[in-house]
Amino acid sequence: MTQDSTTPSDFATPETTEPTPVVAVVGRPNVGKSTLVNRLIGRRQAVVEDTPGVTRDRIAYDAQWNGRRFTVVDTGGWEPDAEGRAAAIAAQAEAAMATADVIMLVVDALVGATDVDEAAARVLHRAKKPVIVVANKVDDARAESDVSALWSLGLGEPFPVSALHGRGSGDLLDVLLAKMPTMPSADQRLENGPRRVALVGRPNVGKSSLLNQLAKEDRVVVDSVAGTTVDPVDSLIELDGETWQFVDTAGLRKRVKQASGTEYYASLRTQSAVEAAEVAVVLLDSSEPISEQDQRVISQAVDAGRALVIAFNKWDLVDEDRRYYLDREIDRELKRITWAQRVNISAMTGRAVTKLAPAIRTALAGWEQRVPTGELNQWISALIAARPHPVRAGKAPRVLFMTQAGIRPPKFVLFTSGRLDPQYVRFIERRLREDFGFTGSPIAMTVKARE
Ligand code: GDP
Ligand code: GDP
Repeated sequence: MTQDSTTPSDFATPETTEPTPVVAVVGRPNVGKSTLVNRLIGRRQAVVEDTPGVTRDRIAYDAQWNGRRFTVVDTGGWEPDAEGRAAAIAAQAEAAMATADVIMLVVDALVGATDVDEAAARVLHRAKKPVIVVANKVDDARAESDVSALWSLGLGEPFPVSALHGRGSGDLLDVLLAKMPTMPSADQRLENGPRRVALVGRPNVGKSSLLNQLAKEDRVVVDSVAGTTVDPVDSLIELDGETWQFVDTAGLRKRVKQASGTEYYASLRTQSAVEAAEVAVVLLDSSEPISEQDQRVISQAVDAGRALVIAFNKWDLVDEDRRYYLDREIDRELKRITWAQRVNISAMTGRAVTKLAPAIRTALAGWEQRVPTGELNQWISALIAARPHPVRAGKAPRVLFMTQAGIRPPKFVLFTSGRLDPQYVRFIERRLREDFGFTGSPIAMTVKARE
């Protein structure tokens, strides 16, 4: 191995929300995790403390090596109380497996594998993601001889580095890059054909009328889109310069009306339509109170995890009086979906139907929005510093780490030291929406508490 003190000099934090692979650095206190993180991100920013177990307030960083961006998570920030260290490191390793794409287990090569290192390794044996054993504190050639003993951890070849002096860090970054997955880019989605929209609502809200209105001559109904297969029960409709696939519209077009069992039939139809779609446009009849049946349709869309637009149809029937009551109904009945956009339309007159396509686009963008782990953790530490969790029985659980585990819809995982009040989780979700948007999309929040 060559002597090298390379640091990633081309470090930058590009303004982008493209997903980046996450690298978690785990290991017991004092093995040099923070020093290594500094080395990997190429700046002296992660605070290095000589006291083991000191909590750092920033734990995730955006980094770049050879033109590839990734996020480095320093799990030093998750370090628990001194007691139960082996259990704590197992929890740390579990968290890393749940959230990271590559895991680095840092071991002090001069000390060798301790019981705590072995506890972490045992957990990581189950990892379905690449694990790199980093043999740290190999400051010179002499220390190299200690490295091979770390094969005993059963996690493959140990890679010697000196996080402090940079020796071997370039090689380590190359190994890391080779093991990092390539993330799907936003462009890849485009090959999947037109966006799928479900037009849903209880009987008689005006679904067929809206479909007919949308499909008028000026908005060409196309029969096929190159390279895609469209189910015969669907309609392709061009709106606002884009072709959309309105799913499961055959029944609407034929204006099938069932004499009996209408509600049951309607609910099945709603279910299959929302499941086939990416975004649901839920129609409500503005001239009538928001009913339980309307609520069920909304729930079906939200529970299926679809993006959502609420269309108040028959707006031509709304006068001042009705408007007054409707505003109150909205406040009362649609409280749980304040994040959904509302458009007031008339399928009959064609009023404002052009507002549908932009609302659908916004909802889909919110549904696919992703916040990089580094940015998210900076955000959550600032939020928690400003509004800490209330103290319960002398204790306040802390949020140790937050990551966005998925999109369509956005899913977040909060790793905590103890149970969070549901109210506090809702507070985090509310602020997340205020600061990042996610308009038109449900959000899933999972809390993983380390008891
Ligand atoms: P962490 O608790 O695992 O995050 O460890 P730190 O990064 O805080 O490092 C613990 C101590 O080990 C500090 O005093 C570092 O200066 C020292 N250290 C870290 N990396 C190296 C290394 O490569 N060689 C030597 N000799 N010391 C190191
Ligand atoms: P569906 O059961 O949801 O498909 O509803 P339809 O499209 O069959 O509409 C039910 C009734 O509402 C029909 O009599 C429509 O003419 C009427 N309707 C639909 N949209 C509007 C609208 O925007 N304004 C008014 N005034 N009536 C509408």
